[in-house]
Amino acid sequence: MKQALLARLTLGIGVPEDEATLRDWFQATALTVRELLTARWHETNRQIRETGIKQVSYLSMEFLLGRGLQNGLMALGILDECREALAECGVKLEDLAELEVTPALGNGGLGRLAACFLDSMASLGLPSIGYGIRYEFGMFRQEVLDGWQIERPDDWLADSNPWELMRPERQYLVRFGGRVAEEGGRLRWVDGEAVHAIAYDTLVPGHGHYAVNTLRLWGARAVHPMDLATFNRGAFMEALSPRLRARTVVRVLYPDDSTVEGRELRLRQEHFFVSASIQDTLRRFLDEHDDWSLLPEKVSIHLNDTHPALAPAELMRLLVDDYELDWEQAWALATKVLSYTNHTLMPEALEIWPCDMMARLLPRHLQIIEEINRRFGQELHARFGGSRPELFSQVAVVEGGDHPRVNMGRLSVLASHKVNGVSQLHSRLVRERLFPQFAELYPERFENVTNGIAPRLWLNLANPSLAQLIDETIGQNWRRDLTRLADLRPQAENDEFCRRLAAIKFANKQRLAALIEHRLGIAVDPTAMFDVQVKRIHEYKRQLLNLLGVVARWNAMRATPDQDWPARVVIMAGKAASAYHMAKLIVKLAHDIGHHINNDPVTSDRLKLVFLPDYNVSLAEYIIPAADLSQQISLAGTEASGTGNMKLALNGALTLGTADGANVEIAEEVGPDDIFIFGMSVDEVAALNQSGTYSSREIYRNNHQLQEVIDQLGAGQFSSDPARFWPIVDSLLDGNDHFRLLADFDSYWQAQRRVDAAWRDQASWMRKSVRNIAGAGRFSSDRSISDYASRIWNAQYLPA
Ligand SMILES: *Cc1c(COP(=O)(O)O)cnc(C)c1O
Repeated sequence: MKQALLARLTLGIGVPEDEATLRDWFQATALTVRELLTARWHETNRQIRETGIKQVSYLSMEFLLGRGLQNGLMALGILDECREALAECGVKLEDLAELEVTPALGNGGLGRLAACFLDSMASLGLPSIGYGIRYEFGMFRQEVLDGWQIERPDDWLADSNPWELMRPERQYLVRFGGRVAEEGGRLRWVDGEAVHAIAYDTLVPGHGHYAVNTLRLWGARAVHPMDLATFNRGAFMEALSPRLRARTVVRVLYPDDSTVEGRELRLRQEHFFVSASIQDTLRRFLDEHDDWSLLPEKVSIHLNDTHPALAPAELMRLLVDDYELDWEQAWALATKVLSYTNHTLMPEALEIWPCDMMARLLPRHLQIIEEINRRFGQELHARFGGSRPELFSQVAVVEGGDHPRVNMGRLSVLASHKVNGVSQLHSRLVRERLFPQFAELYPERFENVTNGIAPRLWLNLANPSLAQLIDETIGQNWRRDLTRLADLRPQAENDEFCRRLAAIKFANKQRLAALIEHRLGIAVDPTAMFDVQVKRIHEYKRQLLNLLGVVARWNAMRATPDQDWPARVVIMAGKAASAYHMAKLIVKLAHDIGHHINNDPVTSDRLKLVFLPDYNVSLAEYIIPAADLSQQISLAGTEASGTGNMKLALNGALTLGTADGANVEIAEEVGPDDIFIFGMSVDEVAALNQSGTYSSREIYRNNHQLQEVIDQLGAGQFSSDPARFWPIVDSLLDGNDHFRLLADFDSYWQAQRRVDAAWRDQASWMRKSVRNIAGAGRFSSDRSISDYASRIWNAQYLPA
């Protein structure tokens, strides 16, 4: 190992050992890992070809990967060996690992899910290619200046990226604009402007399986990179504009996962990566087969949310226009290979495109979608005659009216043979609320696959001491099958086990306390309860409810300082979309409240509020193993699943949550005594909305505790500018509190008091913690992927 590292350092990186910087060592170690993985990668690809087994094309606009170095070393089983070899050279592996940039090609949960799924597909030996965009600037870096969020560009490729391999032979032409022409009785899309999509491959190593899969991200290249005549004329910048223009499409990740911004550029991005990915998928199929009827046996194309929903249109265009299949045959193939996961009920996230924009940018796709829609109308007519006149307008892919639009969510459902939600509750709401007519027309199409998380990252790498304790207690089988964590449950009654678990938690909290001190200059007590809410800042996730609770607690502590208030550190982190003013104001509010109460001599030894900037995968790896309490407090019916909730339970945090998303399933697994559920249920929220009687003002008038808190915000108690938080007060009182914080406040407060009481009995708390870990096995992404494989893709595995 040491020799291999030294050879990469001197020959690969080109520096002698005595001049090597830590960065050089990082690059050399990464190169070593990549070479070892490449051998396994080639072997995997050879096996896929020889066995002819199905390969899944997983299309996702986002992949929120973690750092690659330790993950690669762990997959290769040489983590300790490498650590020792480096130590002999005077280098600490952990220092190298910290140098690696954390790629941020995703906003939050959706992108992280895609990354966990890649890990699980490789670890199960399920052949797959993840397809996405090689954004030159990923998710912005969040800095905080005077309490305000500042967005900085994430120039993650500034230093060379050791993990990617450019594949110039995998290059496809992607067209925009132009027109539809008729050639020899067939329609063809011609003219317009074109760019090349070029593949950059990242290796995705399996753990406990030799398979190494591919993440293929598309970069963009101008067809004609430079206009030489213009350059020679002296217009140097203008000469390069084709190159700059081509790359616009891959320049940035939209910093928002629920609303569509920069609409046209966003549509261009979606078409760019979908077109390249479908072309590549068909090319790989045709390299091995010449019979189209085999396509559904060899290929699945999965749409991770509605962003890749142009895929059905692009697939039809390629099959019908380029490969000259009949429409009927092409449609039969398309609907057999496509499947779709819905990730949100929020209507603005369903990708609705104005027809005129589509006509301009994607004229042939619009024609194809209109034809799909026309045939769908015919099918409905054949089925129902005139008996359901309203039906077609409720399901039409092309919505008519003065401004006709394409509804990509409906297109995805219509073109897919399977559609799934991401938790039992969400899948029910997808059927009942989002696509009720489709669920009636095609009941067999609708499935549930509850999300999951990769235990390799969220337990083995993030919390190695806990992983080792589990090994010593129940053996290593849980590493292959996370449901075996259930074997830990009896350990709740084993004092020695609980003591060791508590010691691990305490060490993780000391580590996080040091990070907080280092980054924020705030000293926090690691014996206090670490009460954590980390996730994108969004009104539906109700960080504001948490803040109202913190202020209410502070008021209560000041009123009765002698009462037995357990010490708490409330830890928040998360980014707000750059155009989302309310979310950014909530970030500011968290800082202003923290600033105020952290220095209060009466309470500051027992209550702190800290906000850690720039939440990303690497920061999550620090925070999650150190959490005692996990706040998952979205309004019921708004969080599709959540995955942060799963990571935290797996690391022994107790959940304080609403009956929303996967919280419901976590409660089933850990049992009602070991979770704190509060607030309205989905059905109660629906009933309240239906009744039309909700008045947040009335609750405000009748709840003095809440009244005091809201009045404090309105009076500017926490800020130098008394008007600063009026928009928040207005949204709660005059905007009628869209996310129903006030309706759930009292129940939240009571639940928090139950948390306080439970925390006072530390031995009992640790027993609950054990049962949370033991109950988290169902939330492995390995389980999610095996559900997808059997219920949706009908995919097989390579032998281990
Ligand atoms: C898991 C994760 C998320 C998703 O968290 P939720 O609580 O499910 O919203 C977002 N960002 C990062 C970096 C994550 O690791």
